[in-house]
Amino acid sequence: MRILGIESSCDETAAAVVEDGRIIRSNSVASQIEEHRLYGGVVPEIASRRHCEAISGVVNNALDDAGTSLDEIDAIAVTYAPGLIGALLVGVNFAKGLALSTGKPLVPVHHLRAHIAANYLTFPELTPPFLCLVVSGGHTHLIDVRNYTDLRVLGQTRDDAAGEAFDKAARAMGMPYPGGVELDKVAEQGNDKAYKLPRPSVDGAPFDFSFSGLKTNVLNQLHNARQRGETVSIPNLAASYRRAVVDCLVRNTLLAAEETGAKKLVTAGGVSANSLLRRELKTVCRERGLSFYCPRLDLCGDNGAMVAAQGFYEYAAGNVAGPGLNARAELSVESLSV
Ligand code: ATP
Ligand code: MG
Ligand code: FE
Repeated sequence: MRILGIESSCDETAAAVVEDGRIIRSNSVASQIEEHRLYGGVVPEIASRRHCEAISGVVNNALDDAGTSLDEIDAIAVTYAPGLIGALLVGVNFAKGLALSTGKPLVPVHHLRAHIAANYLTFPELTPPFLCLVVSGGHTHLIDVRNYTDLRVLGQTRDDAAGEAFDKAARAMGMPYPGGVELDKVAEQGNDKAYKLPRPSVDGAPFDFSFSGLKTNVLNQLHNARQRGETVSIPNLAASYRRAVVDCLVRNTLLAAEETGAKKLVTAGGVSANSLLRRELKTVCRERGLSFYCPRLDLCGDNGAMVAAQGFYEYAAGNVAGPGLNARAELSVESLSV
């Protein structure tokens, strides 16, 4: 079965053709990062406009690169939640138009489920159940993936997402948006024991995360050092901060793995590209006899292939939408509602 996947939830306009949820035939992405970088973060209004301009070209590219035409597509999958509402609406309406004019089924896909599905593309043998740490720009979730479309949230962040915490601290350290990527590179050169930072946890909720205090601690250390005229080693601060964030992520993930008796540990989302997080999870999984999976680096961030992959499983579960499909800025990953 050949699915066209469309993604426009944030600052990437993306489309892809995927076969049977596992084989990528094409993957076309138009990123707006350069433009948002001027403002230090995503400007929602600009994002919507750029999606409008890019979407038909990106979808055409995806079909051309796959050597296929709309006629040979079996279903159209689209990210409908969660994300920037104006940005989501562009993809949803474009997909609705395509579905209506071709008579193909329209499959609504939750963005976090799509991030998880990037692993199905990377590991054709991977099947649920597994425990998944979803770490992205806007979310940090520990999810019990019971089946492709049956997911339970075990814990999540109470404040900042891991990606957001990386981006905000990186910005204060003078790095360009999205700072998480740059911070990871700079941290490779630093000493992660140079600065003392907390490893916050949430009382009574061992699978929940809290990153805002940790982020504020770094911002304060920078501010105070500058006020005192001291120089700050950015590589050392970046390394200490990255270590603290990763320690929190790994600690809770291991607790959840023990509690659920998971045999497979999966990570997903933009922050799953973080080199320390990948190394640490791989090591702790080897020590505990767990299988570890993380997406191919080019599938960690937003893309259409992951949407098409999850779309295959949503379609198989009967999740098909009519022309009344609407975008949702927020929606639980557990929800199937359309
Ligand atoms: P969400 O998926 O929650 O809706 P999003 O789609 O904006 O948010 P993603 O595209 O999944 O987020 O991921 C982008 C985030 O990943 C950014 O915060 C970025 O800084 C972060 N990121 C990317 N690469 C790395 C890395 N190597 N280390 C740390 N963070 C990274
Ligand atoms: Mg993005
Ligand atoms: Fe994302």
